[in-house]
Amino acid sequence: MRALRRWDLRNPGPAAAHWRDLSIQKVSALAATDTPVPPPNAPQRLHQALAPKRMAALHWWLIAVLGSSALVLSLWDVRTLPIDVIAQIVAATALAAIAGYFPLRMPGSKNTFVASEIFIFLLLLLHGAPAATIAVAAAAFIGTFRSSRRWAWRIASPAMAALAMFIAAHLLKAMLGNAAAIQVVDPTRLLPAVTATALLYFAALAAFAGLALTLNRRMPFVVGGFSGSLVSIGIAYGISALVAGTLLLAVQHKGMSVLLGALPVLAMLLTTLHYFLRQREANDRVRRSRVEAAAREAEQSSHHVVELQRSERRFHSAFTHASIGMALVSFEGRILQANPALVALLSDGQSDALVGRRFGTFVLDCDLLSVEREFAQIHAKRSETFAIEVRCRDRSGNQIWAALHCGFFAESDSASPCLILQVQDISARRHAEAQLSHIAFHDGLTGLPNRSRFHALLVQALAVAAGDPSQHFAVMFFDFDRFKLINDSMGHSAGDEFLIHVSRRLQDHVRPGDVVARLGGDEFAVLVSRVETAESATTLAERLQQALGQPLKISGVSVTSSASIGITFSVLGYETPEDLLRDADIAMYRAKAAGKARYEVFDARLHSDVADRLGLEADLRQALAEGTLEVAYQPLFNLRDGTLRGFEALARWRHPARGTINPSAFIPIAEETALITELTDLVLAQACQQLRRWQLRDGSLSGLKMQVNISSNDLAHSALAERIGRVLRETRIEPHLLTLELTENILMQRVEGAMPTLEALRRLGVGLAIDDFGTGYSSLSYLSSLPIDSLKIDRSFVNGMRVGSKNAEIVRAIVSLGASLGKSVFAEGIETQSQLAQLQELGCENGQGFHLSRPLSPSEVELLLDSVIIQPLYGSDHFVGTAMTPLSRH
Ligand code: C2E
Ligand code: CA
Ligand code: CA
Repeated sequence: MRALRRWDLRNPGPAAAHWRDLSIQKVSALAATDTPVPPPNAPQRLHQALAPKRMAALHWWLIAVLGSSALVLSLWDVRTLPIDVIAQIVAATALAAIAGYFPLRMPGSKNTFVASEIFIFLLLLLHGAPAATIAVAAAAFIGTFRSSRRWAWRIASPAMAALAMFIAAHLLKAMLGNAAAIQVVDPTRLLPAVTATALLYFAALAAFAGLALTLNRRMPFVVGGFSGSLVSIGIAYGISALVAGTLLLAVQHKGMSVLLGALPVLAMLLTTLHYFLRQREANDRVRRSRVEAAAREAEQSSHHVVELQRSERRFHSAFTHASIGMALVSFEGRILQANPALVALLSDGQSDALVGRRFGTFVLDCDLLSVEREFAQIHAKRSETFAIEVRCRDRSGNQIWAALHCGFFAESDSASPCLILQVQDISARRHAEAQLSHIAFHDGLTGLPNRSRFHALLVQALAVAAGDPSQHFAVMFFDFDRFKLINDSMGHSAGDEFLIHVSRRLQDHVRPGDVVARLGGDEFAVLVSRVETAESATTLAERLQQALGQPLKISGVSVTSSASIGITFSVLGYETPEDLLRDADIAMYRAKAAGKARYEVFDARLHSDVADRLGLEADLRQALAEGTLEVAYQPLFNLRDGTLRGFEALARWRHPARGTINPSAFIPIAEETALITELTDLVLAQACQQLRRWQLRDGSLSGLKMQVNISSNDLAHSALAERIGRVLRETRIEPHLLTLELTENILMQRVEGAMPTLEALRRLGVGLAIDDFGTGYSSLSYLSSLPIDSLKIDRSFVNGMRVGSKNAEIVRAIVSLGASLGKSVFAEGIETQSQLAQLQELGCENGQGFHLSRPLSPSEVELLLDSVIIQPLYGSDHFVGTAMTPLSRH
């Protein structure tokens, strides 16, 4: 049962193997059908085990039962035969099995022939159907046993052989009777009959096996599938039968001894033939493989030739249709062949218009040398390629930029290599690059070199001067004195116009070879080349100042300008452009500080000034951090009745090493370094705290006011109102008691941007005063629109005030201006009794000054407030509190 299941369940591969066994290895051709198929999975196996394979099982059983029956019948028949006959049967079966090991491959085909059947057919003729049936079953069993491990086949194969032989042999018997028994048989009957039997045997075998295969594979029975093999196998069977028949005839004529003699001869013959055919086959294989290799080689080389031709065609097509210019050139740079793109680029002639010309004739003189050098390098085999960008003349004679790429070129059919040159018009790219570099290195507004470019020029100039002392140069640093004012009051476009005008003036008045650059804002610089003496540079500075002093028309308004100029010289031994610019800048600041519209030459003293300033900056930072800055309070009086109105808070710095430092020395430093915000906060907080303390001393002092100076940077700080609001809340000072003083210059320079801050301060409720009034450029329109409460007349006017003098008139004008605008007026710097008297006479309402009181320390203020009713004796003494007459509080 196990064997049966195997037959049923296995795939066609083993079936084909069995087919080989079945024909006792005569046929190997069917091995081709032995394709491996993956084993079925569990559900497939279950399916196969049920209905569809029932026919195959039935067939197997039928074959097995019938085949066994045939064998049993044959054995029954043979049982009575003499022992020597049985020995012959055994010998013939053994020979048949052995012969299976020496197949004869038919030349030119895959089919083999084995001599097994000769012995079986001989047995058939000699001893009849039972003997042949037993022999064929035994031989088939041995053969199958060797080649298959499945019992289903090991049983079925001999059963099929036995059944087929049984049928065929009995038919032969019907035709001939027992040939051996007859003894003499007519060859003309024997040979066709035995051949027919063989074919019949074969047909039956093929039918059984074919059916088995078909049922197992569940395919329709197609004989055509292996008909080619069937024919050659059939022929082999026929030949075997003929040989057997011939042997029988010989035995019948000459007796059994012939067989004994013939068998070794036959064996030898077959063995020799086997080895001969094997050798021949091996030779054939070698020859065939040689022929195949040669054919492959031929095919490859023809393929190679085709590829080569194709690649050349491709190259020529690329050469002809390329959009960039290409040429084959000789090693000397002579054009041998040019493509249409190159012809169109360089000449308007025919395609051969360039042939024979040196490529160098199209290159501009400035770049010719480098091109020739590159060709020479390749010619001398020092390089193999080059890539270079050069200026050429195009077909209209215009200058173009071309990228050249050159390298070796060797055509397959040409013995002499040349160069291939690619020429690409890159003018557009070059133009864009030039534009970009111009943008990167030039100022967009004036078109002058910018800071980066100037920097690079200074690097060059320093390098040149280092190598040649006669190439010394100077650097001038320009800062326009009133640019901010123009920008703020006339608008940015007017500011731009101004910068364009002055940049032209500078350019028009420098010497050829000097470079004017805009470093940013209103800062310009000039690189003055070949400066032999300092005078030559200072003369130039004077000339430039004169030129700038000429009136300019900006937006229809005539404007005069002046610049502060700082000059430094390369002779001082600079190494970097940064140092040069730094010192020219320092000198410029010096010029500004010294009154503007002038030049200053850098010297070492300036440098130490700067170092000094830097030291001071560090100390100030520390003082602010430690809170060691103090505040002095200068009393403000009502000049009409002498009452104390309040105080102006003034910052005081007692430097541990340098002693007391004036605000005019440290306030500018604070303003430049943004320390001013901290300083303002400190003064504000201290002043408000003091005021609160003083107010609390006596209810009658609750109306005392405090005026605090703030700077332009404070005004630019958007959170100023917020900061002040916080201090007021913290110190519980009513906002209207605090007044912020802003210098006129600051206010006017920043008026546009400061408006929101001023409005915010106004909303907060603090007062605003214009400090140093009269020194700036306040326009009346601004004055009326700004949220200002008071004007403080600059002390320079008070100082130079004599009866009927110009200053006295200015003071009078300011007092009446204040009255008409509804703003209170203060005079500062009242130093003498006569100044006080004049101010009182002019109707100036409020004032401060050394004559009334110097700025006081908080403890001194306490003393002042202690004298409950204070009446200063104007002019009697500078020091408040020594001799005072009673003064009502308000
Ligand atoms: P300012 O705002 O004009 O302050 C008045 C200056 O005049 C003070 O100088 C004061 O001491 C001085 N002064 C007062 N009466 C007389 C007088 O009769 N004759 C003369 N010759 N001078 C008199 P100070 O304290 O040296 O301050 C100078 C400047 O520094 C101030 O001028 C102000 O602009 C600035 N400053 C002072 N403290 C601060 C501050 O806390 N913040 C800001 N931003 N600036 C301040
Ligand atoms: Ca002030
Ligand atoms: Ca002032």
